[in-house]
Amino acid sequence: MAFRDKKRIFVMIILILFLMCTIHITVATVNHDDRAKTEVFSTYIAVPEEETVKVSKEIIFFNMDTSTQFMRGYYSSYNYYLPKNAKNIEARDDAGYISFEKSPNGYHVFNFRRKVWFEQSYTFHIEYELQINHNTAVFALHESGSNTEVTLKIPSDFDTQIGRSDYTLKNNDDQNIYVFEKGKHWNRTYTVDSVRSTPYMVLTGTADLKEKDVEIEIRYWEGEELWAQETMQTTIESLKILEEKWGIPYPVCYNISITQANIDQTGGYGGYNKGSQGIWLLHSSSQWILIHELAHYWTREFNFEQLWMDEGYADLYAYLVLKEIDPHEAQKRRENFIKRYNSLKDTHEYPLSEWSTPPNITDHNMEYVTFGYTKSFYLKWTIYDSIGIESLKKINKNLITYEGGICNPEYIHTVNSLANQDMSFIYDYIFDPTVNIETNNVDNHLDFI
Ligand SMILES: [Zn+2]
Repeated sequence: MAFRDKKRIFVMIILILFLMCTIHITVATVNHDDRAKTEVFSTYIAVPEEETVKVSKEIIFFNMDTSTQFMRGYYSSYNYYLPKNAKNIEARDDAGYISFEKSPNGYHVFNFRRKVWFEQSYTFHIEYELQINHNTAVFALHESGSNTEVTLKIPSDFDTQIGRSDYTLKNNDDQNIYVFEKGKHWNRTYTVDSVRSTPYMVLTGTADLKEKDVEIEIRYWEGEELWAQETMQTTIESLKILEEKWGIPYPVCYNISITQANIDQTGGYGGYNKGSQGIWLLHSSSQWILIHELAHYWTREFNFEQLWMDEGYADLYAYLVLKEIDPHEAQKRRENFIKRYNSLKDTHEYPLSEWSTPPNITDHNMEYVTFGYTKSFYLKWTIYDSIGIESLKKINKNLITYEGGICNPEYIHTVNSLANQDMSFIYDYIFDPTVNIETNNVDNHLDFI
């Protein structure tokens, strides 16, 4: 073979090798998997004077992806989920702003200013803001993975509850600084609920109901005027619908006061109805909870002896009222309730006759309590769905005339006699379906049926 031929073959081999290399070059985007290592330093600073939480994240990305070795590929962008309510989003590296766009899948794609080859790193910053109120701050710590350090700074005159408690707390310059060291696992968002209580201000209004005018007093903290107005509007609107859906006019003789409360005042619950002393409503509670508490003005009049009846009814009526005010939200919440009930059934199943609520909700009893609420709602909703609102009203009007307390047998008897259809499914929810009721004599009052 002539030297020129050898040279030609050599050039061809080099060309083929070059083509093979270029063909395999990949331009990759980082997803959270083993190919890349990411370190995140997140800081949340609450600035109530600006009604804002300023969030900043330093993200250090290392390309450890062996498939990009020998210049076979590089990384050029980074996918990151931001909370839906993030405002004023900016991203930058040391040289200035970097571009980003929102993908149809909901995450943001941040474009690196340079290619990041194998074993190289790239550092950039994301900043955004979350809205809070002057004296109340409710927002989520939005983190993922284990290589993340999270720092939270809140003025020390705020009472703060955080959804996870494995932080260290320092106080510095009138700020409480909560630090979650690296190494903790973040696989969901955690809520921060922070309140600076002020002396209460008062908003008054009147609900023009069927048999009487009911005075409404909303007690709220300074800066929470909007909360007070919305609470007033929902209260007046809901009371009228409640009268109609129960088939019973507002049944108590006293007026209503609703007090804006922090989580210590409600014992971890979303709200608390203290009868003539009024309702304590967690400042971050939804309309559903407010309507639930208003519905208790009716449930209190029934002398129910069983918790599931009170709570199941209150949630059923929260659903029925919300369906009139905001049908989409009502539907969503009903589906969530049922989904939650089904997901807790395997691990927390118990008969409703055995349910009681603790004075405070803790991490330890949260699921037990939630299961009772969701199961009670599910049973009440199934009854309503089977018989319709008019039969439900008939049952209500009958139950409210009972002189003594209403236990399970009285309730079952009334529903059975007024529903005009087979309602035997109710037994399985209230009692242990695996127990033979007749032979084991679960409840002596069963003779009554
Ligand atoms: Zn309740």
